[in-house]
Amino acid sequence: MSVQVVSAAASTKVPEVELKDLSPPDPEPQLGMSSAAVAAMAPPAGAGDPETPALAPAAERPPAPGPATFSPAAAPPAGKVPQASAMKRSDPHHQHQRHRDGGEALVSPDGTVTEAPRTVKKQIQFADQKQEFNKRPTKIGRRSLSRSISQSSTDSYSSAASYTDSSDDETSPRDKQQKNSKGSGDFCVKNIKQAEFGRREIEIAEQEMPALMALRKRAQGEKPLAGAKIVGCTHITAQTAVLMETLSALGAQCRWAACNIYSTLNEVAAALAESGFPVFAWKGESEDDFWWCIDRCVNVEGWQPNMILDDGGDLTHWIYKKYPNMFKKIKGIVEESVTGVHRLYQLSKAGKLCVPAMNVNDSVTKQKFDNLYCCRESILDGLKRTTDMMFGGKQVVVCGYGEVGKGCCAALKAMGSIVYVTEIDPICALQACMDGFRLVKLNEVIRQVDIVITCTGNKNVVTREHLDRMKNSCIVCNMGHSNTEIDVASLRTPELTWERVRSQVDHVIWPDGKRIVLLAEGRLLNLSCSTVPTFVLSITATTQALALIELYNAPEGRYKQDVYLLPKKMDEYVASLHLPTFDAHLTELTDEQAKYLGLNKNGPFKPNYYRY
Ligand code: NAD
Repeated sequence: MSVQVVSAAASTKVPEVELKDLSPPDPEPQLGMSSAAVAAMAPPAGAGDPETPALAPAAERPPAPGPATFSPAAAPPAGKVPQASAMKRSDPHHQHQRHRDGGEALVSPDGTVTEAPRTVKKQIQFADQKQEFNKRPTKIGRRSLSRSISQSSTDSYSSAASYTDSSDDETSPRDKQQKNSKGSGDFCVKNIKQAEFGRREIEIAEQEMPALMALRKRAQGEKPLAGAKIVGCTHITAQTAVLMETLSALGAQCRWAACNIYSTLNEVAAALAESGFPVFAWKGESEDDFWWCIDRCVNVEGWQPNMILDDGGDLTHWIYKKYPNMFKKIKGIVEESVTGVHRLYQLSKAGKLCVPAMNVNDSVTKQKFDNLYCCRESILDGLKRTTDMMFGGKQVVVCGYGEVGKGCCAALKAMGSIVYVTEIDPICALQACMDGFRLVKLNEVIRQVDIVITCTGNKNVVTREHLDRMKNSCIVCNMGHSNTEIDVASLRTPELTWERVRSQVDHVIWPDGKRIVLLAEGRLLNLSCSTVPTFVLSITATTQALALIELYNAPEGRYKQDVYLLPKKMDEYVASLHLPTFDAHLTELTDEQAKYLGLNKNGPFKPNYYRY
């Protein structure tokens, strides 16, 4: 079945829209569209279509979009798409492989700190990995684990506050017999009784996820995901719940596990289980629990997934290693994270990718919004929650002026901070200069700055030498890649004393009494210590939903065993679905203008190489 979004009441400001089954008689490029829609999208005579390049194998080219099935052909312009309530903003993404690690500092009686064994989920090493689920950790083992986790990372995704978590309840969810109110026990969550609280979190998130809510409305007639059996592995948050319930409204069956052992919101997982979703996740899973949960999603009698939605690649690789035959029925993989996408490209390069995959991570609507706007808002939140600091007049150095760096700099400048930037790339450096920031080398300002923020995606940007030279009370944190940017390991030496002063806040003290304030042990500040705006996650979640619809409905042969980006038109569609929140009024091209620019009036409006 192919599907097209059509505007049914374009004359009203907030038209109702519906999904139409437009199973095309011939699987043509603008696939899934009515001939009228195809005609409407066709470029004017003489205009080339830069959006439908021949697809070379992923290994040889930057990923390029394929054609769209769930077409925004008739996506109404801003102000004409379904109205979403523009209510308060709240909380978290992923995103990408966020917050996958988390160590714990052990403070000895003399105040020195050693690094506790990390309860980190290992990178996948399936070859020699033996999953012996019966040899699970003992209850006591799990108990200490959960304590360690809660100390180190309970405040990630903290806007969705845990109302009902009881630290007294140390029983592993795997040892509990739980049923929802309909009598189903096909789930494993911390406590099904928390469902009501989780439902409230989900309702709050819905207010900030207008595009998914719009897709649900459109699905009332046609179900573009009817028959889809989606197995998902993402952060289990209120935002994910809104996505899952949208996928279900679009006709899909879902089974879900968490992509991160810390990030599950137990109440939300309970609410999903209560609503009948087989969810296998809880906050503070052990590594063994983590794989067990994934296996429970996949290894089910009488149910086999035909779509994968992954964040980090663990689910995909589990199926590859344990149940490769499942790929015979799987129509596609949608992957969100940098790491997961990287693995998919590696598989593709090695000729081992056996189904088409969508790289959501690199779609414009993710990169340009998540990295920039998410960080612009959450940097201040993270710093404020951990340090209660005032920003006005403070000297800050931001390392890296890419999307994340630009967001951080803009936020801090707006608060009255004096912001310096370091860069290696002259183009980004020039941008920083022209945006009014002083471009410096880290060495030049390291003695005077009050805050150091890394956003480079690189390693060892802040070294022990820098840390030695910082002034007393300098705050050091990372907004960039995982935990590599600050050389935290170099601070684990006998002459330095670590004091945990708050969750996620360590004072590292030099023998002369100087102390620096290290946040989240060098891991991502915003994901560890603040919330991430739901609206930004809405954009990513909508992109994921459209990618699933596209892959699921694509006729045989449209997508090969390769990695693709969503067609740009869909990116534009995702954006257009979010515009009504701002009561934004998009200008429509006149016929003359469209011809002059060589564009279709309905988009796509930019070539693939456009940088935004
Ligand atoms: P980007 O590539 O646009 O920007 C990184 C910049 O750092 C580049 O301009 C690069 O030239 C510069 N750089 C590299 N090494 C440097 C060095 N040694 N000193 C100074 N500058 C250096 O990437 P981005 O989109 O800004 O993302 C940066 C990192 O943040 C990535 O690792 C990304 O995964 C991560 N990220 C974090 C969040 C979050 O919520 N915290 C969100 C999105 C992305």
